[in-house]
Amino acid sequence: MKPSEPRAPRREPGREIQAAIIILAAALACGFVIQMLLQLRAVGREERAAESMMSGVLSELHSLNADETARRTEAAERMAKLPEEKRQRLEDLHLELLTVVNAWTPMDPDYVPELATVIEEYQLDARCASVVWEMMQDCREGGFGYPMICSAYRSQEFQVELFENKIDRIAMEKYCTREEAIRLASKEVAFPGTSEHQLGLAADIIDETYPYLNEHQETTGTQVWLKEHAPDYGFILRYPEGTSDITGIIYEPWHYRYVGVKFAKEITKSGMTLEEYVAWRRGR
Ligand SMILES: [Zn+2]
Repeated sequence: MKPSEPRAPRREPGREIQAAIIILAAALACGFVIQMLLQLRAVGREERAAESMMSGVLSELHSLNADETARRTEAAERMAKLPEEKRQRLEDLHLELLTVVNAWTPMDPDYVPELATVIEEYQLDARCASVVWEMMQDCREGGFGYPMICSAYRSQEFQVELFENKIDRIAMEKYCTREEAIRLASKEVAFPGTSEHQLGLAADIIDETYPYLNEHQETTGTQVWLKEHAPDYGFILRYPEGTSDITGIIYEPWHYRYVGVKFAKEITKSGMTLEEYVAWRRGR
């Protein structure tokens, strides 16, 4: 009997697979760790970049604030050194904000203020466009009401169009003469050239939950808040209750007029209408 040939050591296929799995797992783990490290480095880099950008912005802001304060102090000092007559003239420029426009005091129909957009199609005099927006945001964000603007600057052409539409509607509804329709229309829509909206300093603000222009508007959260806080932003309630003999306009708890903070606080505190306040100032 032929001695049997030495048997080749038997290979165990299970081991090979095991080894392959271990190598694969190790490779995957290495890849994962490398990727994690790379990511951490990238995050670190981004954080550092963000930090340095932030500190840049902050230092810029600080210097801006310092510039602004210095600028204001300088302006106040310059103002104090001005001769009385010139100072009065500069202050009078500010008085322009007290311009009265009503049925007896029409404005120059060609006057067009320097306008800025409040939102969408609504524009106001650039001096108060952002202020009215800020006031409305503060009311909304404070949870006091849902203010929305429903009328702002009106051009002479637009006021003519509003007035003509009113005349047509009244003439149709009442079967009256044009003269009679004009007389009745002027009670509801200001005659072109006599609407304060043409100054660009007036805005009608209503509450989204009660979008109607009537006396009940005063009970909305927006109007309760505005009545108290509008002067802090330079606005007055222009047509208060019981003053239509003086203003020529019915009580409008939604119509706010910009006169600047100083005058708004003074007028509101005095309880006078704009007409009375201006007359009082002239007579001083
Ligand atoms: Zn109005």
